[in-house]
Amino acid sequence: MTELLVAKGIAKAFGPTAALVDASMSVRAGELVAVMGPSGSGKSTLLHCLAGILKPDSGTVSYRGAELSAMSDSERSALRRNDFGFVFQFGQLVPELTFLENVALPLRLGGMRRADAERSAMVWMDLLEVGDIAAKRPGEASGGQGQRVAVARALATKPKVLFADEPTGALDSLNGERVLHLLFGAARQTGAAVVLVTHEPRVAAHADREIVVRDGRTQDVELVA
Ligand code: ADP
Ligand code: MG
Repeated sequence: MTELLVAKGIAKAFGPTAALVDASMSVRAGELVAVMGPSGSGKSTLLHCLAGILKPDSGTVSYRGAELSAMSDSERSALRRNDFGFVFQFGQLVPELTFLENVALPLRLGGMRRADAERSAMVWMDLLEVGDIAAKRPGEASGGQGQRVAVARALATKPKVLFADEPTGALDSLNGERVLHLLFGAARQTGAAVVLVTHEPRVAAHADREIVVRDGRTQDVELVA
C-alpha cells in the first residue's frame, strides 16, 4: 500500500514544555489509524504536525514524498484545503447557516454552483444519516447530529486524509460510537485515510492500526482484529 504521510522523529516544544520528544508514524492510502494515549501526551500536537498546521522543531513530515517543511506557506495551505479534511471536538459549524449550507460551504468556496454544491452536500449528509435535518441549524439539533454534519462537511471535498481530533469528546459514549462508526464507514466508502485521536478503545479496535503516544513518544500497537 502507498504511504501517503510519513512522520519521522518529530520533536516539538512549547517554551519549556516538550509536547513531542520522538514521534514517528505513517499513514497509508485509505487506512484508518487510531491515535490513543493519556491526556497531555502529545496527540493533538502530533496531529497538527502531520497536517502541516504546526512546524516541528526537528524531524520530518512528508506527504507523498514531499517534505512539508520544504513547502511555502501557500503550498501548505493549498495542501490542507485540497487533500486534507478536519473534524474537531466542537465549534466548527457556522451557527447562522443551515446544516446543508454548512456542508455545501467548502464546495461553494471551491467554486461550485449553489445547486450543484447543495446536491452534492446532500449525498454526504445522507451517508452520515443527517439528511433529514438538512434544513436545521446547529443550535437546533443534538451534539451527535452536529458532529455527523461536521464529518459530512469534512468529507465533501473528498480529502485524501481526514484528521479527527477527539471528534466525539463532547458526546456520551453511545452517540460517540455512532458518530465514529459512521465516520469510519464513510471514509471506507470514499477511500479517505483517517487519523483519529480518540479515547474510545472500542472504536480504536475498528481501526487498521493503533498508535499510542506516551510522554511525547509514539509506540505502534499490533491490532488483534
Ligand atoms: P494531548 O492532545 O495528548 O492531550 P497535546 O498535544 O495537546 O496533548 O499537549 C501535549 C503537551 O504540550 C501538554 O503538556 C500541553 O499542555 C502542551 N501544549 C500543547 N499545545 C500547547 C501550546 N500551544 N502552548 C503551550 N503548551 C502546549
Ligand atoms: Mg488533544
